[in-house]
This record gives sequence, C-alpha cells and structure tokens, in this order.
Amino acid sequence: MTRKLFVTTALPYANAPFHIGHMMEYIQADIWVRHQRMQGHEVHFVGADDAHGAPIMIAAEKAGKTPQQFVAEIAAGRQQYLDGFHIAFDHWHSTDSPENTVLAQDIYRKLRDRADGSLITTKTIEQFYDPVKGMFLPDRYIKGECPKCGAKDQYGDSCEVCSAVYAPTDLKNPYSTLSGATPVMKSSEHHFFKLSDPRCVEFLEQWTGGERLQSEVGNKIREWFTKDEQGAGGLSDWDISRDAPYFGIEIPDAPGKYFYVWLDAPVGYLASLKNYFDLGKAKARGEPRSFDDFIADPAVEQVHFIGKDITYFHTLFWPAMLQFSGRKVPDRVYAHGFITVSGEKMSKSRGTGISPLKYLELGMNAEWLRYYIATKLSSKVEDVDFNPDDFVARVNSDLVGKYINNASRAAGFLSKRFGGRLSGDVGVEGRVLLDHLRSGHADIERLYDERDFGRALREIMLLADRVNEYVDQNKPWELAKKEGQDAVLQDVCTVCIEAFRLLTIYLKPVLPALTTEVEAFLRIDPLVSTDAHRALGAHTIGEYRHLMQRVDPKLLDALFEPPAAAMVEHPKPGGEEIAPVIGIDDFVKIDLRIAKIINCEHVTGSDKLLRLTLDVGEVDATGQPRTRNVFSGIKSAYEPANLIGKLTVMVANLAPRKMKFGISEGMVLAASHADEKTHAGIHVLEPWPGATPGMRVR
Ligand SMILES: [Zn+2]
Repeated sequence: MTRKLFVTTALPYANAPFHIGHMMEYIQADIWVRHQRMQGHEVHFVGADDAHGAPIMIAAEKAGKTPQQFVAEIAAGRQQYLDGFHIAFDHWHSTDSPENTVLAQDIYRKLRDRADGSLITTKTIEQFYDPVKGMFLPDRYIKGECPKCGAKDQYGDSCEVCSAVYAPTDLKNPYSTLSGATPVMKSSEHHFFKLSDPRCVEFLEQWTGGERLQSEVGNKIREWFTKDEQGAGGLSDWDISRDAPYFGIEIPDAPGKYFYVWLDAPVGYLASLKNYFDLGKAKARGEPRSFDDFIADPAVEQVHFIGKDITYFHTLFWPAMLQFSGRKVPDRVYAHGFITVSGEKMSKSRGTGISPLKYLELGMNAEWLRYYIATKLSSKVEDVDFNPDDFVARVNSDLVGKYINNASRAAGFLSKRFGGRLSGDVGVEGRVLLDHLRSGHADIERLYDERDFGRALREIMLLADRVNEYVDQNKPWELAKKEGQDAVLQDVCTVCIEAFRLLTIYLKPVLPALTTEVEAFLRIDPLVSTDAHRALGAHTIGEYRHLMQRVDPKLLDALFEPPAAAMVEHPKPGGEEIAPVIGIDDFVKIDLRIAKIINCEHVTGSDKLLRLTLDVGEVDATGQPRTRNVFSGIKSAYEPANLIGKLTVMVANLAPRKMKFGISEGMVLAASHADEKTHAGIHVLEPWPGATPGMRVR
C-alpha cells in the first residue's frame, strides 16, 4: 500500500546561519524521505524558518534593520547549505507568513471557544520590565551579580562561575542587557493554554503511550505528568502570550498581546505545507487534493524529525493544540541526539565545531559527510560524535575501498575488452553471490524505515565484503592476462557490475548524487527499490566515470582551524574590530611596566576619575623612591580602598598630560567592551603573582 507522508524537520531559528547540528538533522530526515520514495511512497517534505520572537526582534534592532529584513537575509543564505548537502526539501517557507497567521489564530480560537469549556485562560503575572526600552525582559536579557558567589555579569538563571541556579529576581544589582537600566517588577495579563486540564492530560496519556514516540522519549514524557502524593508536579498551564513590543502574531481580541514564538513555530509546519499546496507543488508530487483535504485525511502520516531538546514542545503542547482545535495529530515524532566533535559538545562561543559552509568551500564531498553521519545514526536518542580519524577511515576503507574500487576495475575491463557489454551470464558462483546480496534487501529496507541507518550501512558493508571475497577468488586482473579466458573475465566483471548496482540501490538514500552518476554510467533508469529483484542481462554500460575520491586527512586539519570571524555570531571581539597590524618595532615603543597602587582616592568634582599613586620601582636624582600621579576613568567600577596595594600594568612612557585636576604621568590598563551600555564593566589588569613593580611587560 502506498503511504502518504507529510515530513518535517524542526524549524531553524532565523537569527543565524545553519550549523552542523542542523545539517545532521536534515541529512537524517532526507535519507528517510529518499528511502520512502524509493519504495514508491508519496512524501511531502517541507521546512521553514522560525522567524518570530524577542531574540530576532532585538538582534534586528541592533543591526539597524526591521525584523523582516533581518530574517530575509538569513533566509537568503539557506539554499546553499541545502543544495550543498543534497537536502531535497520540497518546499521552504517562513513562520512570518499569512498562512501561519491564519492557522495560528484559527487554532487559538478553536481552543478558546470550545463548546465543552475553553482551554484558554488568563492570569496576571509579575515580570522584570526594562523602563528605558519599555518592554518586558526575557530572562536571557537580565544580568547581575550572582546571589551566591557575587560574580559580576551573570545571566538571570545560573552562574557561570559557581554554577549556582536561581531565578532572575535573586540577582544582586540586576540590569537589563538591552539598556543597562535597572529592571523593575511589573505585572501584566498573560494568556495560558490549559495543559493541566483533565481533557489534555487524558489525551496526552493516551497519545504518548503508543508507537508515536521512541520508547525512551515516551517514558520521559510520562514522568512529567505524574503527580506525587501531595498532588505536586504534573502538567502545568502554558504561558502563550507576550506583550508588545514583540515580533510575532497578534492574539485575536487581545490588543497588544502576541503569541509566544513557541506557539506559532510548530504551526509553521502546516503553514509551509499549505503554501506548498497552494503553489501547486503537491500536484507535481501526485497529490491532487487541497491542503485542507490532505491534512484532514487520517491515512496521511504526519512525521516530525526533531532534536531531543525540543521534545517537550512537540510531544505535549503541539499534539494537544492540534487535538483540541479539531485537527489531525502527529503520527510520529522522531527525536535525535546532539552532535559532538571528538567527544566534546559543540559550543558556538568557544568557536569549535564544524562549519558546514567551510566543509563545502574546502571542496570536501558532501556525501562523505552524509555517509559518515548515517553510519552513526540509530533509532535511539543518542548523541552522534564526529571524530576526524574515524571519518577518514570510514570513507576511505568502506565507501571507496569496499564499494567503489571493484566497480571501477570491472568497468575498466568491460569497456576496454568488451565494448561495455555485460555477458548476461553470471555463472553458479556469481549467482550465489548475487542471491546473497538480494537476500539482505528486506532487512536493509526495514532498518532504513526504522531509522537504524548505522545498522543498515553495516549490513551493506558486510555484503560489500562478500563481493570483495568473490573478486579476490576470481582475480580478474589475472584472467585479463591469460589466453582464452575472455569469456570468464567478462562473466566475472558482469557479476561485479551487478553486485555494484545492488549495493548502489541500498546506498542510494545516503548517496543520491553519486547514484545519479552511477545510473548515468550504467545507462539505467533512476534506481528504485524493486530494481533489486531484476537483472541487467546482456546490457551495455557506458564509460566508467570517476565516482569518488579518498579523503585527504589534511582536509580535516583545515576544517578544524578556528572559524573565520564572519562565521561567528558576534563577529567583532569585544564589540570592535582588531586594530590594523603593527610591527614589533611599533610595539616596543610602548613601555609597559608593573605598577603597585600605593594610594587611590576620589577626585573632587569628577564623576569618572580616580587618582592613583603608583610605584613603578623608580628613584629620583637623590635616590629617593619616586611615585607617579595617574588619573584613571575607572570610578564607576571600583572603590578606591579596594585598589590600594594591588599590582597593575601601566604605560610608563606616555607623555605627561595636564588635566583639570592635575598632571597625569601615565596610564593604567583596563579592559572594557566597546559598547559599555550593553556590556557593563571596566576591568583593571592585574599581573599573575610573582611580578614586582618596575618589571617590563613585553
Ligand atoms: Zn556564582
């Protein structure tokens, strides 16, 4: 029976280019989709940009753009990644679209207006508010001092220094990272989706209990709705509204209120599908019905590929929203783990990880990565590790060594000696081999269907090993040198080509571009699943064309060089470009010395300066210790008493400068961000222990 499948990947947030984690998810889904299509199933595979929410609104404002412009620029960069890695979405859309507005508002109204009682409620909550920006602050835009260890500039949820976890209201001296202002508590009415309602709980208990989720996901989710003996725990209502200003979709009949981005993001799956149907693209895939008819059909399977970090949204809120607005619910939610690099979790801030674009720019074959990632994927929610040595080994020994090489050799003999003609006769031994290869077909297809790609590829490589044994036993290179062995040579090469064709059918979902080359060189129609049960017979193949190179390990070294500045989220370190290059001669002109702060005091009449008395180990003409008077603009960051006795670094040969308050004989070094409003703090440099006054810094 032909399956009708609606397949999505999670919608990427439109504030940054794709990273390797996105590509892993797309490769996983793309392989699965291609596999289904090879079975003759009808698949509609769509994606979209997740465009709304405060982070995009704020990033756009900083960049001096409208959110729409900002998102459009990110969206314009998407296709090169998708094409580059052969990710064949049928359609790509945006959550900032008319379709999404209509669908999200319709779903909301149906939840609100239910005849058996509304599933929408309102509550007044208190939240931090930035009085300068005039907006409520999401937690990530609040910083302050850690309530436990006092570390400065810590986020509203946890301390990076001591790992303490707390609420934003616990921070000492909190400030808004948007304006620097001290946030105030302000109340506002919020809209909630009543997930705790018995109707939702009953539905979700049933929905999460079946085959729709991986067992480990289902078990985890059901822990969330278990209440303890005191009645605590269980599902809580979900805050779905945000106050203006917000980049999002307005809540009907609630002026100044917008849907929280996570409400309309998954609705974007339907919006993209609707746009795809409305453009007539579904018809081209053989689906004659309208979007409404298609999505109401219980026989249509709705399948979402997602990362493990967003299971909560996809297995509770999303199915409940759909169910209680009278829509079809997802049939499968497939969660995957994260990608790690040599065992370490990727971190954008540390700049590690693999840039997908750099991979392509280095001329690395996209199908190496598809194959390598596929060997690591299973149906479980496991992390996938990218290990450069393993990558080289798998591609070179498996893909090129076991699969490609035999084909190139056999094809070479066939075209040189037999005009490319296959003999149509594979002999007893050849038949045994090919039957064995065919006997693996059903298992391999089942493994693909279950997303156990790693096991499918292991099975395929075991079959490739059998082909290599056959070649080693029959030694075509020796047959080619012997008199009167032409017919045997032609038969052996025919077996090799038939075996190669079978392996190509099995590998096609992973290696679509290479398969296209193979189909051209074998002069055959695009391979589908049932081709495994046919033989080519006395067919004539074309000239062998080069199919795949080995990986040069040097490419991996280049791939792991620190990313180019432009690839990083914050392209300017510390908020400003690195100054133009200077020679060492320029640098040595600056005489930096360790200085001891022997006194420090406020400067009457100045709200910026502190007066420092510094000892840099100098003596005057009479041999008496000499100190320097230096004014420094660090008053906002330091209490004078806290600086006395400390060591720091000063520019000792700066020309003395006459200031309103006296002469400054040098300059103390301090670190600060170019934009002091958003990155509060001035940090005076302090040498490591052991340095003494007068030592030169070089
Ligand atoms: Zn702390």
